[in-house]
Amino acid sequence: MQERHLQMLMAATGDYTGGIDGVFGPLSTAAMHRVEARHRAAYTFDPTTTTDHRRKTACAQACLNQLDHDAGFIDGWNGHNTTEALNAFLFQITNGTDEQIDRDPEQGFTPPGNIPRQRDVGQVYGQPGEQIKSRLTTIQLPFSLKIDWNLRTSTNKIRVHRDCAPQLEAALIAIRQHYGPDEMNRLGIDRYAGAYNHRRMRGGSSWSMHAYGCAIDFYAQPNGLRVRCPQALFCGAEYQPFLDIMEQHEWLPAIRLWGKDAMHFQRARL
Ligand SMILES: [Zn+2]
Repeated sequence: MQERHLQMLMAATGDYTGGIDGVFGPLSTAAMHRVEARHRAAYTFDPTTTTDHRRKTACAQACLNQLDHDAGFIDGWNGHNTTEALNAFLFQITNGTDEQIDRDPEQGFTPPGNIPRQRDVGQVYGQPGEQIKSRLTTIQLPFSLKIDWNLRTSTNKIRVHRDCAPQLEAALIAIRQHYGPDEMNRLGIDRYAGAYNHRRMRGGSSWSMHAYGCAIDFYAQPNGLRVRCPQALFCGAEYQPFLDIMEQHEWLPAIRLWGKDAMHFQRARL
């Protein structure tokens, strides 16, 4: 998180009136303390006992959430949700409009099985918010995945919709059997980048598939929202078994659905 961006965010929330100069002086610090006081209940940690860098990232997340650019949890870790929320904010203040990201279907892709359409997920899975929350379940894998936005940590628990969980669990176990831990590590397939998340779609106004608990991301940085093949890492030949196994288990790769956002897989077709 650049200090200049944090100053822009704190100016937008009305907490900061100083220069947008990237010099984090007393005015900036006082503004950060105001943001913290207002949003303290939503912080997942105590901002006064962490590093300066993490504290500023958390402050930016609090501002982004307040400005309706969902950054996710206020945890101080600069993951792809925080990055994309900041991108959305910067686009909005630069252009005066929200960025639109088109997701036109890729031609010639036929998903397997009986997978709901995106437009029907509200009927099939439920409404985002309390209803979806009550239908989430936690998969417990027999191995761990690294947390993509904080690689010193790992988890074997993934929270998704109960109607999508058995398929995802089977897919991940099959992927592990295919590649083994060393190859998963080398290829970055073991970098889990988030599943359930109550937020809007990036570059759109409808709910994200993540808000229905039917989406998961892996290794965000080289598989960005706007990046197509062959630039996206997961377009490489070594990754095709990974995509194939996910698809066979009804978790469809976005790079095959709409040709971008290769980090993203969902149990919904277009
Ligand atoms: Zn995603």
